[in-house]
Amino acid sequence: MNKTIYILFSFLILFSFKSESQNVFVSIYNDFKIKTTVVRPVQGKYELIANDSKVLKINKGNNIIYFTALGDSLSAWDLDNHLGIFKKIEIIEKSKNNSFRIQPAYPALKEREYQGGLVLTAKGNRLIIINNVNLDDYVAGVVESECGPNAPFEYYKSQSIICRTYALDHLDRHIQEGFQLCDCVHCQVYKNRCCKNDSIILAVKQTENLVIVDSSLNLIAATFHSNCGGQTMNSEDVWSSKKSYLKSVTDTFCRNQVHSSWTDTITMKDWITYLDTTGFEITQKTFNNDSLTFIQKHRKKYYRINGDSILLTKIRSDFKLKSTFFSIYPNNNFLILKGTGYGHGVGLCQEGAMQMARYGYSYSDIIYFYYRDVSIINFRSKKLVDIN
Ligand SMILES: [Zn+2]
Ligand SMILES: [Zn+2]
Repeated sequence: MNKTIYILFSFLILFSFKSESQNVFVSIYNDFKIKTTVVRPVQGKYELIANDSKVLKINKGNNIIYFTALGDSLSAWDLDNHLGIFKKIEIIEKSKNNSFRIQPAYPALKEREYQGGLVLTAKGNRLIIINNVNLDDYVAGVVESECGPNAPFEYYKSQSIICRTYALDHLDRHIQEGFQLCDCVHCQVYKNRCCKNDSIILAVKQTENLVIVDSSLNLIAATFHSNCGGQTMNSEDVWSSKKSYLKSVTDTFCRNQVHSSWTDTITMKDWITYLDTTGFEITQKTFNNDSLTFIQKHRKKYYRINGDSILLTKIRSDFKLKSTFFSIYPNNNFLILKGTGYGHGVGLCQEGAMQMARYGYSYSDIIYFYYRDVSIINFRSKKLVDIN
């Protein structure tokens, strides 16, 4: 029987937030060098503040603002006037439910729509465009960008908690650059506001304030990937850091999914050259079909021949393979690589988690399956949410 137990922690949790609504500062179009962009409000009311002094009100439809980087300053125009050259421009929300569209003109890029406000500065003829957005509006945008609009509802709830946890755990990642998170894979993909599936917004709302903590009540590094290929990885076998909750688990849920299996080929010549350059001892005697055959029934950390070894993560990176979970079969002048999974393999397996949701598992079942010895808590009330 399901029951919900709330335990009020009397001891200190290492993070807390005073304000009722938490905003995050996310650099958008972060992987592009944008010189000129157009911004226009779609919904709500805004005010444009330049160099900390008010310039004008912006309402839906009555203004399109153009911004161009000029060295470390930016020049702004509306439809009628040149507004001036400034060091910083903030587009501040003056009502609830605000959104705007933004479209870079140089280089010309696809238009996006975001909620919240904007902070624009410039450095070296490049605009730095920061979306000041409510945490959960950001989480909904990330869940849609990372997971697509057609996944099951309980999966969206688990992914909402994971994305919120990941964001709160990485708020200082870009602090030297003047923002908190970027919109790329480096942090979490955030290519638009959530607009294609309202059930994502509902999933974020129903898991409001919920995050995942480890046994010491620290936010976990809530990593996820597309498909683990049947077994997730220990964090220390992929990255240098060992995390008690990122332990290898056997996962049968992600079988027969889009990214369950893959095949690749490498020429024998390229492979021998590669091993030679990475320090393997190459002799005619030791390099035959038997020694080149490499089987992974369970995930390994290294590819080994005799006394030589190389990290599978390095092979994956060097040959741009979908995963490190592959076996190698020599075939005349080629090696056939038969692999399973897609991604680094650490933490939650997205295709497995989606299948769990389709089978009727709850969001907490999904989280507790992929992350070991963790708890789901409300980060504002500091109450444990234990649903089993
Ligand atoms: Zn980043
Ligand atoms: Zn999996």
